[in-house]
Amino acid sequence: MPSPQLPNSMAARDVAHVLHPYTNLVKHEAVGPLVIERGKGIYVYDDQDKEYIEGMAGLWCAGLGFSEAALVDAAIEQMRKLPYYHGFGHKTTGPVVELAEKLKAMSPLPVGKIFFAEGGSGANDTLIKLIWYYNNARGRIDKKTILSRIKGYHGVTIASASLTGLPANHKDFDLPIARIKHVDCPHYYRFAQDGESEAEFVARLAKNLEDFILAEGPDTVAAFFAEPIMGAGGVILPPKDYFPAIQKVLQKYDILSVSDEVICGFGRTGNWWGAQTFGYQPDFISCAKQLSSAYLPISAVLVPEHVYETIRENSGKIGTFGHGFTYGGHPVAAAVALRTLQIYEERDMLGHVNAVAPRFQTRIAKLGDHPLVGEARGIGLIGATELVADKKTKRSFAPTAGVGAACMNFAQEEGLIIRAMGGDVIGFCPPMIITESEIDEMFDRFERALAKTM
Ligand code: PLP
Repeated sequence: MPSPQLPNSMAARDVAHVLHPYTNLVKHEAVGPLVIERGKGIYVYDDQDKEYIEGMAGLWCAGLGFSEAALVDAAIEQMRKLPYYHGFGHKTTGPVVELAEKLKAMSPLPVGKIFFAEGGSGANDTLIKLIWYYNNARGRIDKKTILSRIKGYHGVTIASASLTGLPANHKDFDLPIARIKHVDCPHYYRFAQDGESEAEFVARLAKNLEDFILAEGPDTVAAFFAEPIMGAGGVILPPKDYFPAIQKVLQKYDILSVSDEVICGFGRTGNWWGAQTFGYQPDFISCAKQLSSAYLPISAVLVPEHVYETIRENSGKIGTFGHGFTYGGHPVAAAVALRTLQIYEERDMLGHVNAVAPRFQTRIAKLGDHPLVGEARGIGLIGATELVADKKTKRSFAPTAGVGAACMNFAQEEGLIIRAMGGDVIGFCPPMIITESEIDEMFDRFERALAKTM
Protein backbone atom coordinates (compact mmCIF):
# COMPACT_ATOMS: atom_id res chain seq x y z
CA MET A 1 0.00 0.00 0.00
CA PRO A 2 1.47 3.40 -0.89
CA SER A 3 2.31 5.46 2.14
CA PRO A 4 0.33 8.63 2.81
CA GLN A 5 3.71 10.04 3.85
CA LEU A 6 4.92 10.15 0.22
CA PRO A 7 4.54 13.84 -0.61
CA ASN A 8 2.00 14.65 -3.26
CA SER A 9 0.98 10.99 -3.68
CA MET A 10 -2.73 10.36 -4.20
CA ALA A 11 -2.75 8.80 -0.72
CA ALA A 12 -1.25 11.94 0.86
CA ARG A 13 -3.67 14.19 -1.02
CA ASP A 14 -6.57 12.00 0.09
CA VAL A 15 -5.54 12.31 3.72
CA ALA A 16 -5.19 16.06 3.30
CA HIS A 17 -8.56 16.69 1.65
CA VAL A 18 -11.12 13.90 1.91
CA LEU A 19 -13.43 13.30 4.86
CA HIS A 20 -13.90 9.53 4.63
CA PRO A 21 -17.22 7.78 5.21
CA TYR A 22 -17.22 4.86 7.68
CA THR A 23 -13.58 5.29 8.67
CA ASN A 24 -11.61 5.76 11.86
CA LEU A 25 -10.36 9.19 10.88
CA VAL A 26 -7.48 9.22 13.34
CA LYS A 27 -6.15 5.90 12.07
CA HIS A 28 -6.70 7.00 8.49
CA GLU A 29 -4.09 9.72 8.81
CA ALA A 30 -1.50 7.10 9.77
CA VAL A 31 -2.35 4.31 7.33
CA GLY A 32 -3.81 6.24 4.40
CA PRO A 33 -6.19 4.87 1.80
CA LEU A 34 -5.94 2.04 -0.66
CA VAL A 35 -6.18 3.89 -3.97
CA ILE A 36 -8.18 1.79 -6.43
CA GLU A 37 -7.57 2.71 -10.04
CA ARG A 38 -9.23 0.23 -12.32
CA GLY A 39 -11.34 -2.90 -12.47
CA LYS A 40 -11.75 -6.03 -14.59
CA GLY A 41 -14.34 -8.70 -13.95
CA ILE A 42 -14.26 -9.59 -10.25
CA TYR A 43 -10.86 -7.90 -9.82
CA VAL A 44 -9.81 -4.36 -8.94
CA TYR A 45 -6.27 -2.93 -9.13
CA ASP A 46 -4.57 -0.33 -6.96
CA ASP A 47 -2.23 2.45 -8.07
CA GLN A 48 0.74 0.06 -7.79
CA ASP A 49 -1.18 -2.31 -10.12
CA LYS A 50 -1.63 -4.89 -7.37
CA GLU A 51 -4.60 -7.14 -8.10
CA TYR A 52 -7.40 -7.82 -5.61
CA ILE A 53 -10.42 -10.08 -5.83
CA GLU A 54 -13.29 -7.83 -4.78
CA GLY A 55 -14.87 -10.26 -2.34
CA MET A 56 -17.56 -7.75 -1.38
CA ALA A 57 -18.51 -6.53 -4.88
CA GLY A 58 -17.57 -3.09 -3.55
CA LEU A 59 -20.32 -2.53 -1.00
CA TRP A 60 -22.45 -5.61 -1.83
CA CYS A 61 -23.36 -3.98 -5.12
CA ALA A 62 -21.29 -4.52 -8.28
CA GLY A 63 -23.15 -7.67 -9.32
CA LEU A 64 -21.76 -7.63 -12.86
CA GLY A 65 -18.21 -6.93 -11.72
CA PHE A 66 -16.06 -3.97 -12.65
CA SER A 67 -15.80 -3.94 -16.46
CA GLU A 68 -19.21 -4.55 -18.02
CA ALA A 69 -18.99 -2.76 -21.35
CA ALA A 70 -22.71 -3.04 -22.07
CA LEU A 71 -23.46 -0.84 -19.05
CA VAL A 72 -20.88 1.72 -20.14
CA ASP A 73 -22.50 1.76 -23.60
CA ALA A 74 -25.98 2.20 -22.10
CA ALA A 75 -24.73 5.16 -20.05
CA ILE A 76 -22.96 6.80 -23.00
CA GLU A 77 -25.94 6.36 -25.29
CA GLN A 78 -28.31 7.97 -22.78
CA MET A 79 -25.79 10.69 -21.86
CA ARG A 80 -25.55 11.70 -25.52
CA LYS A 81 -29.32 11.69 -25.96
CA LEU A 82 -30.43 13.36 -22.72
CA PRO A 83 -27.93 13.55 -19.84
CA TYR A 84 -30.42 14.76 -17.26
CA TYR A 85 -34.06 15.26 -16.72
CA HIS A 86 -36.46 14.84 -13.82
CA GLY A 87 -39.91 13.59 -12.99
CA PHE A 88 -41.28 16.54 -11.02
CA GLY A 89 -44.69 17.77 -12.07
CA HIS A 90 -45.92 16.03 -15.18
CA LYS A 91 -42.59 15.15 -16.81
CA THR A 92 -40.85 11.87 -17.42
CA THR A 93 -38.20 10.16 -19.53
CA GLY A 94 -38.23 6.88 -21.46
CA PRO A 95 -35.65 5.01 -19.35
CA VAL A 96 -37.62 5.71 -16.16
CA VAL A 97 -40.86 4.41 -17.67
CA GLU A 98 -39.18 1.30 -19.07
CA LEU A 99 -37.39 0.59 -15.80
CA ALA A 100 -40.64 0.93 -13.84
CA GLU A 101 -42.32 -1.52 -16.24
CA LYS A 102 -39.44 -3.96 -15.89
CA LEU A 103 -39.39 -3.78 -12.09
CA LYS A 104 -43.13 -4.30 -11.92
CA ALA A 105 -42.79 -7.38 -14.10
CA MET A 106 -40.06 -8.76 -11.80
CA SER A 107 -41.80 -7.88 -8.56
CA PRO A 108 -43.07 -10.64 -6.28
CA LEU A 109 -45.82 -8.27 -5.05
CA PRO A 110 -48.91 -6.77 -6.64
CA VAL A 111 -47.10 -3.48 -7.22
CA GLY A 112 -49.03 -0.42 -8.29
CA LYS A 113 -46.26 2.10 -8.81
CA ILE A 114 -42.50 2.49 -8.50
CA PHE A 115 -40.82 5.51 -6.91
CA PHE A 116 -37.16 6.18 -7.76
CA ALA A 117 -34.51 7.64 -5.44
CA GLU A 118 -30.70 7.69 -5.53
CA GLY A 119 -29.68 5.17 -2.87
CA GLY A 120 -30.89 2.77 -0.22
CA SER A 121 -31.11 5.38 2.53
CA GLY A 122 -33.30 7.63 0.41
CA ALA A 123 -35.53 4.70 -0.54
CA ASN A 124 -36.09 3.72 3.10
CA ASP A 125 -36.56 7.33 4.15
CA THR A 126 -39.14 7.65 1.41
CA LEU A 127 -40.94 4.57 2.68
CA ILE A 128 -41.28 5.96 6.20
CA LYS A 129 -42.72 9.16 4.77
CA LEU A 130 -45.06 7.24 2.45
CA ILE A 131 -46.32 5.12 5.32
CA TRP A 132 -46.95 8.18 7.53
CA TYR A 133 -48.63 9.99 4.64
CA TYR A 134 -50.77 6.94 3.95
CA ASN A 135 -51.86 6.57 7.57
CA ASN A 136 -52.61 10.29 7.88
CA ALA A 137 -54.67 10.13 4.70
CA ARG A 138 -56.66 7.27 6.21
CA GLY A 139 -57.24 9.20 9.44
CA ARG A 140 -54.98 6.85 11.42
CA ILE A 141 -52.98 9.74 12.76
CA ASP A 142 -51.57 7.86 15.76
CA LYS A 143 -50.39 4.82 13.78
CA LYS A 144 -46.84 6.06 13.24
CA THR A 145 -44.29 3.99 15.18
CA ILE A 146 -41.88 2.15 12.92
CA LEU A 147 -40.20 -1.06 14.05
CA SER A 148 -36.89 -2.40 12.86
CA ARG A 149 -34.40 -4.77 14.39
CA ILE A 150 -31.25 -4.72 16.47
CA LYS A 151 -28.33 -5.22 14.03
CA GLY A 152 -30.47 -4.28 11.02
CA TYR A 153 -28.97 -1.86 8.50
CA HIS A 154 -31.15 0.49 6.49
CA GLY A 155 -28.99 3.53 5.79
CA VAL A 156 -27.62 6.72 7.28
CA THR A 157 -30.09 9.58 6.82
CA ILE A 158 -31.76 10.69 10.05
CA ALA A 159 -34.70 8.34 9.52
CA SER A 160 -32.89 5.43 7.88
CA ALA A 161 -30.02 5.59 10.39
CA SER A 162 -32.69 5.45 13.08
CA LEU A 163 -34.01 2.26 11.44
CA THR A 164 -30.48 0.90 11.49
CA GLY A 165 -29.93 -1.04 14.70
CA LEU A 166 -26.17 -0.60 15.10
CA PRO A 167 -24.63 1.54 17.87
CA ALA A 168 -22.06 3.28 15.64
CA ASN A 169 -24.86 4.77 13.55
CA HIS A 170 -26.57 6.26 16.61
CA LYS A 171 -23.85 7.21 19.05
CA ASP A 172 -23.31 10.97 19.22
CA PHE A 173 -25.64 11.52 16.26
CA ASP A 174 -28.58 11.88 18.70
CA LEU A 175 -30.32 8.91 17.10
CA PRO A 176 -32.58 7.00 16.85
CA ILE A 177 -35.53 9.36 16.55
CA ALA A 178 -38.40 8.65 18.94
CA ARG A 179 -40.83 7.13 16.47
CA ILE A 180 -38.45 4.34 15.46
CA LYS A 181 -37.98 1.39 17.82
CA HIS A 182 -35.92 -1.76 17.66
CA VAL A 183 -36.93 -5.36 18.32
CA ASP A 184 -35.03 -8.67 18.49
CA CYS A 185 -32.30 -9.73 16.10
CA PRO A 186 -33.05 -13.22 14.70
CA HIS A 187 -29.51 -14.57 15.03
CA TYR A 188 -29.91 -18.02 16.53
CA TYR A 189 -26.16 -18.55 17.06
CA ARG A 190 -25.83 -15.39 19.17
CA PHE A 191 -29.23 -14.88 20.76
CA ALA A 192 -30.75 -18.33 21.38
CA GLN A 193 -31.03 -19.21 25.05
CA ASP A 194 -29.31 -22.30 26.43
CA GLY A 195 -31.02 -25.43 25.14
CA GLU A 196 -33.52 -23.49 23.02
CA SER A 197 -34.37 -25.13 19.68
CA GLU A 198 -34.66 -23.02 16.51
CA ALA A 199 -38.44 -23.44 16.61
CA GLU A 200 -38.55 -22.27 20.24
CA PHE A 201 -36.30 -19.33 19.39
CA VAL A 202 -38.61 -18.27 16.55
CA ALA A 203 -41.69 -18.66 18.78
CA ARG A 204 -40.03 -16.53 21.48
CA LEU A 205 -39.14 -13.77 19.01
CA ALA A 206 -42.67 -13.75 17.58
CA LYS A 207 -44.10 -13.55 21.10
CA ASN A 208 -41.69 -10.77 22.06
CA LEU A 209 -42.79 -8.85 18.97
CA GLU A 210 -46.44 -9.30 19.85
CA ASP A 211 -45.82 -8.24 23.47
CA PHE A 212 -43.93 -5.18 22.23
CA ILE A 213 -46.77 -4.19 19.90
CA LEU A 214 -49.34 -4.66 22.66
CA ALA A 215 -47.26 -2.59 25.08
CA GLU A 216 -46.91 0.21 22.50
CA GLY A 217 -50.57 -0.07 21.54
CA PRO A 218 -51.32 -1.69 18.16
CA ASP A 219 -53.04 1.49 16.96
CA THR A 220 -49.73 3.31 17.22
CA VAL A 221 -47.53 0.85 15.29
CA ALA A 222 -47.38 1.49 11.55
CA ALA A 223 -44.70 -0.70 9.99
CA PHE A 224 -41.90 -3.21 10.38
CA PHE A 225 -38.69 -2.94 8.33
CA ALA A 226 -36.43 -5.94 7.79
CA GLU A 227 -33.65 -7.11 5.49
CA PRO A 228 -34.14 -10.75 4.46
CA ILE A 229 -30.50 -11.31 5.48
CA MET A 230 -29.01 -8.66 7.74
CA GLY A 231 -26.00 -7.48 5.75
CA ALA A 232 -23.88 -4.86 7.50
CA GLY A 233 -25.04 -6.23 10.88
CA GLY A 234 -22.96 -9.34 10.08
CA VAL A 235 -24.63 -11.41 7.31
CA ILE A 236 -27.22 -12.78 9.70
CA LEU A 237 -29.60 -15.36 8.26
CA PRO A 238 -32.88 -15.82 10.10
CA PRO A 239 -34.13 -19.31 10.96
CA LYS A 240 -36.31 -20.78 8.22
CA ASP A 241 -39.65 -20.15 9.94
CA TYR A 242 -38.81 -16.70 11.33
CA PHE A 243 -40.41 -14.47 8.69
CA PRO A 244 -43.69 -16.42 8.38
CA ALA A 245 -44.04 -16.28 12.19
CA ILE A 246 -43.30 -12.55 12.31
CA GLN A 247 -45.63 -11.83 9.40
CA LYS A 248 -48.50 -13.52 11.21
CA VAL A 249 -48.07 -11.09 14.11
CA LEU A 250 -47.81 -8.07 11.83
CA GLN A 251 -50.95 -9.02 9.92
CA LYS A 252 -52.87 -9.54 13.16
CA TYR A 253 -52.26 -5.91 14.14
CA ASP A 254 -52.53 -4.39 10.65
CA ILE A 255 -48.86 -3.44 10.53
CA LEU A 256 -47.26 -2.92 7.12
CA SER A 257 -44.08 -4.82 6.32
CA VAL A 258 -41.12 -3.61 4.30
CA SER A 259 -38.52 -5.93 2.83
CA ASP A 260 -35.28 -3.97 2.49
CA GLU A 261 -33.82 -5.77 -0.53
CA VAL A 262 -30.98 -3.30 -1.03
CA ILE A 263 -28.46 -6.16 -0.70
CA CYS A 264 -30.60 -9.25 -1.24
CA GLY A 265 -32.48 -8.10 -4.35
CA PHE A 266 -31.67 -9.25 -7.90
CA GLY A 267 -30.43 -12.76 -7.38
CA ARG A 268 -27.98 -12.53 -4.49
CA THR A 269 -29.70 -15.25 -2.44
CA GLY A 270 -30.57 -17.51 -5.40
CA ASN A 271 -33.99 -15.96 -6.11
CA TRP A 272 -34.70 -12.54 -7.55
CA TRP A 273 -35.78 -11.38 -4.10
CA GLY A 274 -34.65 -12.33 -0.61
CA ALA A 275 -38.28 -12.38 0.55
CA GLN A 276 -38.83 -15.33 -1.83
CA THR A 277 -35.84 -17.17 -0.37
CA PHE A 278 -37.14 -16.69 3.17
CA GLY A 279 -40.80 -17.36 2.41
CA TYR A 280 -42.63 -14.11 3.07
CA GLN A 281 -44.68 -11.55 1.21
CA PRO A 282 -44.00 -7.98 2.32
CA ASP A 283 -46.22 -4.99 1.52
CA PHE A 284 -43.32 -2.88 0.20
CA ILE A 285 -39.84 -3.46 -1.18
CA SER A 286 -36.89 -1.08 -1.23
CA CYS A 287 -34.01 -1.93 -3.56
CA ALA A 288 -30.80 -0.37 -4.91
CA LYS A 289 -27.18 -1.53 -5.34
CA GLN A 290 -27.42 -4.48 -7.79
CA LEU A 291 -30.35 -2.72 -9.46
CA SER A 292 -27.72 -0.93 -11.56
CA SER A 293 -24.83 -3.20 -10.60
CA ALA A 294 -23.76 0.02 -8.81
CA TYR A 295 -22.50 1.59 -12.05
CA LEU A 296 -24.68 4.61 -11.28
CA PRO A 297 -26.63 5.46 -8.12
CA ILE A 298 -30.30 4.57 -8.25
CA SER A 299 -32.82 2.98 -5.90
CA ALA A 300 -36.47 2.06 -6.12
CA VAL A 301 -39.46 1.71 -3.83
CA LEU A 302 -42.14 -0.77 -4.87
CA VAL A 303 -45.52 0.54 -3.73
CA PRO A 304 -48.65 -1.65 -3.62
CA GLU A 305 -51.71 -0.53 -5.59
CA HIS A 306 -53.99 0.09 -2.59
CA VAL A 307 -51.40 2.30 -0.87
CA TYR A 308 -50.83 4.19 -4.10
CA GLU A 309 -54.58 4.81 -4.47
CA THR A 310 -54.73 6.48 -1.03
CA ILE A 311 -51.59 8.54 -1.70
CA ARG A 312 -52.98 9.61 -5.08
CA GLU A 313 -56.26 10.83 -3.58
CA ASN A 314 -54.51 12.64 -0.76
CA SER A 315 -52.13 14.42 -3.15
CA GLY A 316 -55.18 15.61 -5.07
CA LYS A 317 -56.63 17.08 -1.88
CA ILE A 318 -53.36 18.67 -0.71
CA GLY A 319 -52.44 19.83 -4.21
CA THR A 320 -49.25 17.81 -4.60
CA PHE A 321 -47.39 14.74 -3.43
CA GLY A 322 -44.63 16.80 -1.84
CA HIS A 323 -41.71 14.42 -2.03
CA GLY A 324 -38.98 13.74 -4.61
CA PHE A 325 -35.24 14.03 -5.25
CA THR A 326 -33.48 16.09 -7.93
CA TYR A 327 -31.62 12.96 -9.01
CA GLY A 328 -34.35 10.41 -8.28
CA GLY A 329 -34.99 8.51 -11.49
CA HIS A 330 -31.98 10.09 -13.23
CA PRO A 331 -32.37 9.00 -16.87
CA VAL A 332 -28.76 7.83 -17.25
CA ALA A 333 -28.93 5.80 -14.03
CA ALA A 334 -32.31 4.42 -15.13
CA ALA A 335 -30.91 3.43 -18.55
CA VAL A 336 -28.01 1.63 -16.86
CA ALA A 337 -30.35 -0.10 -14.40
CA LEU A 338 -32.64 -1.21 -17.21
CA ARG A 339 -29.67 -2.64 -19.11
CA THR A 340 -28.47 -4.35 -15.91
CA LEU A 341 -31.80 -6.11 -15.43
CA GLN A 342 -31.83 -7.13 -19.11
CA ILE A 343 -28.34 -8.60 -18.75
CA TYR A 344 -29.37 -10.54 -15.63
CA GLU A 345 -32.08 -12.15 -17.75
CA GLU A 346 -30.14 -12.54 -21.02
CA ARG A 347 -27.23 -14.22 -19.24
CA ASP A 348 -29.44 -16.19 -16.85
CA MET A 349 -27.82 -14.68 -13.77
CA LEU A 350 -30.16 -16.60 -11.47
CA GLY A 351 -29.13 -19.86 -13.13
CA HIS A 352 -25.48 -18.87 -12.74
CA VAL A 353 -25.83 -17.93 -9.06
CA ASN A 354 -27.54 -21.24 -8.34
CA ALA A 355 -24.92 -23.15 -10.33
CA VAL A 356 -21.91 -21.70 -8.47
CA ALA A 357 -23.49 -21.14 -5.03
CA PRO A 358 -22.90 -24.76 -3.89
CA ARG A 359 -19.15 -24.28 -4.42
CA PHE A 360 -19.27 -20.94 -2.56
CA GLN A 361 -21.25 -22.41 0.32
CA THR A 362 -19.07 -25.53 0.52
CA ARG A 363 -15.98 -23.35 0.90
CA ILE A 364 -17.70 -21.15 3.52
CA ALA A 365 -18.90 -24.22 5.44
CA LYS A 366 -15.36 -25.67 5.40
CA LEU A 367 -14.12 -22.51 7.13
CA GLY A 368 -16.37 -23.48 10.02
CA ASP A 369 -13.78 -26.14 10.95
CA HIS A 370 -11.13 -23.50 11.55
CA PRO A 371 -10.31 -22.93 15.25
CA LEU A 372 -10.95 -19.18 14.92
CA VAL A 373 -14.35 -19.53 13.25
CA GLY A 374 -17.34 -19.75 15.59
CA GLU A 375 -19.99 -19.79 12.89
CA ALA A 376 -19.73 -20.00 9.10
CA ARG A 377 -22.99 -19.05 7.41
CA GLY A 378 -24.50 -18.05 4.10
CA ILE A 379 -26.88 -18.69 1.24
CA GLY A 380 -26.59 -18.09 -2.49
CA LEU A 381 -23.58 -15.86 -3.08
CA ILE A 382 -23.45 -14.17 0.30
CA GLY A 383 -21.83 -15.47 3.45
CA ALA A 384 -19.70 -14.78 6.49
CA THR A 385 -17.42 -16.25 9.08
CA GLU A 386 -17.68 -15.08 12.67
CA LEU A 387 -14.29 -15.12 14.36
CA VAL A 388 -14.32 -15.97 18.07
CA ALA A 389 -11.81 -16.24 20.90
CA ASP A 390 -13.41 -19.46 22.15
CA LYS A 391 -15.33 -21.73 19.80
CA LYS A 392 -16.97 -23.70 22.60
CA THR A 393 -18.34 -20.79 24.60
CA LYS A 394 -18.74 -18.52 21.52
CA ARG A 395 -16.82 -15.86 23.41
CA SER A 396 -15.92 -12.95 21.13
CA PHE A 397 -12.57 -11.21 21.07
CA ALA A 398 -12.38 -7.91 22.94
CA PRO A 399 -13.41 -5.16 20.51
CA THR A 400 -10.01 -3.51 21.06
CA ALA A 401 -8.18 -6.67 19.92
CA GLY A 402 -8.97 -5.78 16.29
CA VAL A 403 -8.91 -9.40 15.13
CA GLY A 404 -11.41 -8.92 12.30
CA ALA A 405 -9.55 -5.83 11.09
CA ALA A 406 -6.24 -7.73 11.22
CA CYS A 407 -7.74 -10.56 9.17
CA MET A 408 -9.04 -8.04 6.64
CA ASN A 409 -5.57 -6.50 6.34
CA PHE A 410 -3.92 -9.91 5.88
CA ALA A 411 -6.49 -10.65 3.20
CA GLN A 412 -5.55 -7.43 1.47
CA GLU A 413 -1.90 -8.51 1.52
CA GLU A 414 -3.04 -11.75 -0.13
CA GLY A 415 -4.94 -9.84 -2.83
CA LEU A 416 -8.46 -10.10 -1.46
CA ILE A 417 -10.82 -7.36 -0.38
CA ILE A 418 -13.35 -8.46 2.22
CA ARG A 419 -15.20 -6.64 4.96
CA ALA A 420 -14.77 -6.97 8.72
CA MET A 421 -17.93 -6.01 10.55
CA GLY A 422 -18.72 -5.55 14.23
CA GLY A 423 -18.13 -8.65 16.35
CA ASP A 424 -15.32 -9.81 14.06
CA VAL A 425 -17.59 -11.02 11.32
CA ILE A 426 -15.91 -11.31 7.91
CA GLY A 427 -18.35 -10.87 5.04
CA PHE A 428 -18.19 -12.32 1.53
CA CYS A 429 -20.43 -11.01 -1.22
CA PRO A 430 -18.50 -11.18 -4.51
CA PRO A 431 -19.77 -10.00 -7.89
CA MET A 432 -22.45 -12.46 -9.00
CA ILE A 433 -20.50 -13.18 -12.21
CA ILE A 434 -17.84 -15.02 -10.18
CA THR A 435 -16.91 -18.48 -11.53
CA GLU A 436 -16.21 -21.66 -9.56
CA SER A 437 -12.44 -21.37 -10.06
CA GLU A 438 -12.54 -17.73 -8.96
CA ILE A 439 -14.51 -18.79 -5.87
CA ASP A 440 -11.74 -21.27 -5.07
CA GLU A 441 -9.09 -18.60 -5.60
CA MET A 442 -11.00 -16.21 -3.32
CA PHE A 443 -11.24 -18.71 -0.46
CA ASP A 444 -7.65 -19.91 -0.97
CA ARG A 445 -6.51 -16.33 -0.48
CA PHE A 446 -8.78 -16.00 2.56
CA GLU A 447 -7.47 -19.21 4.12
CA ARG A 448 -3.92 -17.86 3.83
CA ALA A 449 -5.07 -14.64 5.53
CA LEU A 450 -6.79 -16.58 8.30
CA ALA A 451 -3.61 -18.63 8.87
CA LYS A 452 -1.70 -15.37 9.39
CA THR A 453 -4.42 -14.11 11.79
CA MET A 454 -3.93 -17.09 14.16
N1 PLP B 1 -30.36 -0.96 3.20
C1 PLP B 1 -29.45 -1.94 3.21
C2 PLP B 1 -29.89 -3.35 3.46
C3 PLP B 1 -28.11 -1.66 2.96
O1 PLP B 1 -27.19 -2.64 2.99
C4 PLP B 1 -27.73 -0.33 2.69
C5 PLP B 1 -26.32 0.00 2.41
O2 PLP B 1 -25.43 -0.79 2.58
C6 PLP B 1 -28.71 0.66 2.72
C7 PLP B 1 -30.01 0.31 2.95
C8 PLP B 1 -28.35 2.09 2.48
O3 PLP B 1 -28.04 2.29 1.16
P1 PLP B 1 -27.19 3.57 0.69
O4 PLP B 1 -25.83 3.42 1.27
O5 PLP B 1 -27.26 3.47 -0.80
O6 PLP B 1 -27.90 4.77 1.19
